[in-house]
Amino acid sequence: MTTQAPQNESSSAKQIKQSEKPAPGSLIMSGMRTTHFMHIGNYHGALKQWLELQKDYVGYYGAMNWHAMTSSYKTPHDVMKFTRLIIAEWLAWGLDPDRNVIFVQSEVPEHVELTMFFQMMTPMSWLERVPTWKDAEEEAKASDTHNLGRFMYPVLQAADIAIYRGTHVPIGQDQIPHLELSRDIVRRFNFLYGGNLPEPKPIFSSTPTLIGTDGRKMSKSYNNAFQLTQEPDEITKTLRAMPTDPARIRRENPGEPLKCAVYGFHKLYSNTEDLAWVETGCRTAGIGCGDCKKKLGDNINAEMMGPREIKRKLLADDEKLDAIIADGCQRARTEAKKQMDQVRSWTGFQGNSDW
Ligand code: SF4
Repeated sequence: MTTQAPQNESSSAKQIKQSEKPAPGSLIMSGMRTTHFMHIGNYHGALKQWLELQKDYVGYYGAMNWHAMTSSYKTPHDVMKFTRLIIAEWLAWGLDPDRNVIFVQSEVPEHVELTMFFQMMTPMSWLERVPTWKDAEEEAKASDTHNLGRFMYPVLQAADIAIYRGTHVPIGQDQIPHLELSRDIVRRFNFLYGGNLPEPKPIFSSTPTLIGTDGRKMSKSYNNAFQLTQEPDEITKTLRAMPTDPARIRRENPGEPLKCAVYGFHKLYSNTEDLAWVETGCRTAGIGCGDCKKKLGDNINAEMMGPREIKRKLLADDEKLDAIIADGCQRARTEAKKQMDQVRSWTGFQGNSDW
C-alpha cells in the first residue's frame, strides 16, 4: 500500500535538479554526524563550502549527535567526544562562531519536539522509498542498526532545517532524496496546519567523490578515510601505506597517475607545478613513488599546519571551547524556541496557562 499526499501537495521531485545562488538574507542550515573524527572528505565535501558561504550568509551548523546515535547508539560517550572534537575542527579551519550559529543538536530539544509533529504526518511509504534505507537494509541488519531511529532519520533532518526556518541546505547529489523528502514534509505540514515554514532549497557541492587511502571510495565504514588534521608523522604513515599504480613494480617502471589514489590527493593539495611534476615523473619513471608521496605529505602538512595549531590550543583550553559551544547552543535554542512557539500556535498544541 502506498500513501499519497493530498492533491494540493505537489511532489518536489522535479524542482530540485539544480541549485541557484541564495538571495541575500537566506539562512543556511547544515551539520555533520558526530560518529567519528573528521576526514578530508568532510572538509572538501562540506566544511570548505561552509567557509565560503559564511562570507555572505548566516549559517546554522549543527554537530548532529542524535543523527550519530542512529548508528552509534551503543557508544554514546564516544559520540559526545566526537561532538566536541568536530566543533573544534570547524573552528580551527575558520568557521566563525560570531557570524554563524554553531550548536550541538541534543542541546536544542526543539529539534526532537518538531520531529514529533513531523513524524505523525509523514507516511511510512515516504520513508520506505528513501534509498539510504531501501538499499542498505541488509547492511543495517548485519551491523545491528536496523532500528526505528535510522528509519526516521530523514524526518529528524527535516525538523533540523525547519526549526531554524532554513532556506538553503548544502548537499551532494546523493542527498537529493533526503532534501526532497524534507520539502515534502514541510509542504504537508504547511498544508495541514496553515504554517509558513520555508521549503528548503539545495546548494550543490561541486566536490567529486573522494578516493580513500586504499583506492576505494572514501568512507568511515571502509576505514580508509584520511583524517582531516593529522600530525606530520601520522601523515607520512598514512601515505606510506597507500597503494600506488600496480604497474610500478620497480622504480624504473613507468606508471599512470590516473590509476593511482596518491595522485587523487595531489589534485586536492598540490599546485599546478607539482601536479605537472607528478604526471611527467610518474609516466617517465623519472620519480619514484616515495618521492611522489613525500611531496604530497609536505603539501598536506603545509595546509594542515595552521588549523592543527589552533585545534591543539582549543582542545587544551576547555573553558574557551565550552564557552563557544555554550553560546552557540544558547543562540540556537532561542531561535528554535521561537519557531516551536509558532508551531504550537498553528497547531493549537498550547497548554492552558493554568496547567
Ligand atoms: S609516482 Fe605517484 S602517481 Fe605515480 S604511481 Fe607512484 S605514487 Fe602514484
